[in-house]
Amino acid sequence: MKTKNYSQLFINGEWVDSSSDQTITVLNPSTEEVIAAVPHANEDDVDQAVTAAKEAFPAWNTLPVSKRIDLLMQLADAIEEHQEEILELIIEEMGTARDFGRTAQVGRSISEIRSLVAELDHFEFKEEYEGFDVIKEGFGVVACITPWNYPLNQIQRKITPALLAGNTVVVKPASNTPLAGFYLTHLIEKIGFPAGVFNFVTGGGSDTGNYLAGHEDVSVISFTGSTEVGRGLYEKAAPKIKHLILELGGKSAMIYLQGGDLNTAVEQAMDAVLNNTGQSCSALTRLLVPESLLDEAKNVIRDYYEKKAIVGNPIDNKTIVGPQISKDQQERVESYIQKGKDEGATVFLGGEKMEGKGFFVQPTVFTDVTNDMTIAQEEIFGPVLCVLSYSTVNEAIEIANDSPYGLSGAVVGPGEEAYQVASQLRTGNILINGSGRLDHALFGGYKQSGLGREVGLWGLEDYLEEKALFYKK
Ligand code: NAP
Repeated sequence: MKTKNYSQLFINGEWVDSSSDQTITVLNPSTEEVIAAVPHANEDDVDQAVTAAKEAFPAWNTLPVSKRIDLLMQLADAIEEHQEEILELIIEEMGTARDFGRTAQVGRSISEIRSLVAELDHFEFKEEYEGFDVIKEGFGVVACITPWNYPLNQIQRKITPALLAGNTVVVKPASNTPLAGFYLTHLIEKIGFPAGVFNFVTGGGSDTGNYLAGHEDVSVISFTGSTEVGRGLYEKAAPKIKHLILELGGKSAMIYLQGGDLNTAVEQAMDAVLNNTGQSCSALTRLLVPESLLDEAKNVIRDYYEKKAIVGNPIDNKTIVGPQISKDQQERVESYIQKGKDEGATVFLGGEKMEGKGFFVQPTVFTDVTNDMTIAQEEIFGPVLCVLSYSTVNEAIEIANDSPYGLSGAVVGPGEEAYQVASQLRTGNILINGSGRLDHALFGGYKQSGLGREVGLWGLEDYLEEKALFYKK
């Protein structure tokens, strides 16, 4: 299915013209070429989308769950059938490397839908108690506002549970990467979801997104993006006491404990900052190593860097590290690298500016980092690893927890000790001894990393209202 028409919005089951004449230009970050122009929806457009979703809600919310499941399973099948085309779009608009994109961007979307549906075997939308029943149902209209780093899966993670729960949705994708969302919308249209259940509007965050979030007929704001914008959404939610789901930033630590497999620790931390060019909220950007093993760790890091820090346009299959999403993001990462140098960290690898077309940043590893440095505290969202040393395990735990964020984390060490250390981390996901996340497990953060959980049944529950029905026998 070729989708090259990005000029309309999808509202109430139809492609419609925006009533705004403004557009947003989409660039290929590897080449800086313009690849599309999409509508910059205005308030009238958002009003129409929200009205369509509001009107579709009662029928969708009372449709048997099996019918909603059937449509979502058709969507998983359709994504699978078209996965290579979607992957090419994501490579073009976002610059993710091909192998990573195939599994973590597109493949994960398919498997997360199927996993949640499988989990519904253990879930009841109606529970019976002595004298009352509990009914679980949708809230109403959900505003789904998504970032650019996983253009397909960030949308999927919201719409799958929201729709299964009985809500209707208005999706506003990131302006840098709306094209995978257009493709998804075409699939939804082709499958034949009822009109108004899914609506798709493109537009700027500070106007279109902001207006959508504050719309009086929106019941849930489901946002993934920066902590800064997330903070502002509390105000949007407050007047109508809207339900708020926030998936925000991170600055996660990998703790390597003496006696663990050093290669596993380095590989997992380095992969997380190289894959997706470090543009993952869960990236393990602080590697904590015992002082006495620092030299050994540096040797392993150098070997891994030489093998894996292959920067380029991801249309080349050898590329592992693509571009940053935008010029702004490139400059932001470069300014953090400069800040690291200014504050006294040592550039162990990389650290140079990259010349030429495309928003590329050289993967960079800093050593001699202390946790009070800006590069250890703030989310860089680029291919930058900070190596910190510690003298006792308690100190390592303190350093890991000394962060405004609490999204992810990892520990590599002797089994029981690694588990004990992991359980003391104030963060929502911790990977022990090289384990990976699972598609039916919860994802989300402590502290300023967010509110609520996505993925699996935990993600579903965040989109469900609960009602007690009392009856006389
Ligand atoms: P962002 O600037 O916060 O934007 C995210 C989305 O919000 C975009 O669609 C954006 O629209 C929109 N937006 C911006 N300002 C808004 C406003 N005032 N009101 C309503 N919507 C608004 O974040 P980003 O730069 O795209 O993404 C990077 C951030 O997302 C990082 O901090 C990363 O850690 C976080 N993230 C978190 C998770 C997680 O699961 N915890 C996952 C992925 C990313 P425009 O695109 O038009 O600006």
